[in-house]
Amino acid sequence: MSNLNTEMVEKYRNNFLQEVTANVEEGEWVKMCMQCGVCSGSCPLGPYWDHPPQELFMMIRAGKREEVLTSSSMWMCTSCYNCVARCPRGLPITHIMHGLAHYADRLGIAPKGQQTRKFANLFWDNLTKTGRVNELRLGISLYFMNGFAAGVKKALSMAGMGMGMMKTKRLSPMEYFGGHSIKDKKGLQAILKKAKEIELAKEQKF
Ligand code: SF4
Ligand code: SF4
Repeated sequence: MSNLNTEMVEKYRNNFLQEVTANVEEGEWVKMCMQCGVCSGSCPLGPYWDHPPQELFMMIRAGKREEVLTSSSMWMCTSCYNCVARCPRGLPITHIMHGLAHYADRLGIAPKGQQTRKFANLFWDNLTKTGRVNELRLGISLYFMNGFAAGVKKALSMAGMGMGMMKTKRLSPMEYFGGHSIKDKKGLQAILKKAKEIELAKEQKF
């Protein structure tokens, strides 16, 4: 168990709702859920998940910490906002889903082989380096995220499309080494550092 996870188990013993309220983005909204099930009924993907949103919120209130935080469900949310548009209580469900996923990741207990989790982390690392997504680097890292052999196989299967994109100047191999970036990269790093500090301070308050 990671240090942070152990610390949080101790700190919020028997009160998972309070833990979510304090540490998950928009988590303070979970207590407003009236369990009507509209979000789960509106979610195009919910029926294929272990736990659609309404069920996750019920489990949070029931103190099912491990089942919620190790679930792959919130990692599958595509941010379509169907649930948010229909929730009669106005819960920011999409943000809570991503907040739960991020929190589980920080605690080190998110499901390891989860593909969208891997993608989310690769995307974040790619984006925060320069403030702009380097599509070529991101594409290559996605091909190889499940190992070298799988990456080569995937790259070969997409070679035709890649060549076509290069011919039409939609893709340049040189982008790998440079690509677009924002002017103030140091400023971006300072903002991210400050955001982390605020998050930590919020944690220590509860
Ligand atoms: S639609 Fe809103 S109130 Fe209804 S179960 Fe979902 S989150 Fe709760
Ligand atoms: S935003 Fe996520 S949880 Fe909400 S309906 Fe879409 S996929 Fe489902």
